[in-house]
Amino acid sequence: MDEKNLNVGTKCVQAGYHPGNGEPREVPIIQSTTFKYNTSEDMGKLFDLEASGYFYSRLQNPTCDIVAAKIAALEGGSAAMLTGSGQAANFFATFNIAQAGDHIVSSSSIYGGTFNLFNVTMRKMGIDFTFVSPDCTEEELQAAIKPNTKAVFGETIANPALTVLDIEMFAKVAHKNGLPLIIDNTFATPVNCRPIEFGADIVTHSTTKYMDGHGSAVGGAIVDSGKFDWMAHADKFPGLCTPDESYHGITYAEKFGMGGAFITKCTAQLMRDLGSVQSPQSAYLLNIGLESLHVRMKRHCENGLKVAEFLKSSDKVSWVTYPSLEGDKYYERAKKYLPNGSCGVVSFGVKGGKPAAEKFMKALKIAAIETHVADARTCCLHPASATHRQLTEQELIDCGISSDLVRFSCGLEDAEDLIADIKQALDSI
Ligand SMILES: *Cc1c(COP(=O)(O)O)cnc(C)c1O
Repeated sequence: MDEKNLNVGTKCVQAGYHPGNGEPREVPIIQSTTFKYNTSEDMGKLFDLEASGYFYSRLQNPTCDIVAAKIAALEGGSAAMLTGSGQAANFFATFNIAQAGDHIVSSSSIYGGTFNLFNVTMRKMGIDFTFVSPDCTEEELQAAIKPNTKAVFGETIANPALTVLDIEMFAKVAHKNGLPLIIDNTFATPVNCRPIEFGADIVTHSTTKYMDGHGSAVGGAIVDSGKFDWMAHADKFPGLCTPDESYHGITYAEKFGMGGAFITKCTAQLMRDLGSVQSPQSAYLLNIGLESLHVRMKRHCENGLKVAEFLKSSDKVSWVTYPSLEGDKYYERAKKYLPNGSCGVVSFGVKGGKPAAEKFMKALKIAAIETHVADARTCCLHPASATHRQLTEQELIDCGISSDLVRFSCGLEDAEDLIADIKQALDSI
């Protein structure tokens, strides 16, 4: 059976792991830091990347690789790796091709943690960023690209602004300039959007969110489409296209080809040196989450739409953003990129601004106040006083977050109960 041709739901349940006769049906947790070899020659081949195999779980672990293979199948990619967090995934995906003196163009409408990673920490490492509106024109995106630009970055559905990216247009401009497009697909998940089908080259995830889906384990993933021809732009990507002396002079793009170079380099260099691994226990939990991802996403989206429709009808609410809500600024784009639904997260403004938003949230009985988002239990957050509190007023505006914005993450409960809870909390203001 060719796994590639399966539908997304079947992949959620089955992809990546095919036990043989008498082997465990459930993905085994290989709780071992190290692996045994008969000869030093056998092990030496692994260190030279001449043979594939396991020697130390900081680089690779069989449980993590099974779950990464499932995520690669879900996204339609050629290879994938797990990371210890979504932050590590976005850091590794960008740092794998950019170094001091380089530049990256990113949508300004991205997760606050990623914005901080780019705008503060990676700048300190000598990598420059230009932020563009997710609604920029082709010309504006083109104008942001410089000779030292190494990648273009954006989120399918931005957390928490819920802007929807025109992935095809971003890919077109990136490719015209010989650059890969990196898409963080955390909120949409591959159930609702597969960015590679629209031209993305690298896809990242915070698996902490819907993929895990139960708030059990922090994690991330990076998927390579295998479609970007690094060698065709060898001058831009020396790390992939010139010999790596720390592995006896192998050249990743030559030895591992378009399908394997990016993930192999990312594992062999960045995981080796920076060590942001996902534990096999976490990968096991992630796999259980993935097995129901397609079923859960449907319910998250149904609840999201019902809650968004209710909020829109309430006179206590000044505005509602939900890409699948008719009349939303991103409704048409969502129909193209997210035809089966967007996500369970709804953003809205409570009339009366910040104090009213805080009062509303305090009065909620089912929805809990959490930094977390995108899991089975409904939760909500006031980003301007939590995740995004380090941003200036202008930066908040640039990333689409007003001070009255409440991010409401619809879980898997019954929509009627969620709406009744919201209604009583709004009435209490
Ligand atoms: C949460 C999140 C991240 C960061 O992931 P962690 O697992 O918390 O490190 C990155 N991107 C998006 C879109 C997210 O929602």
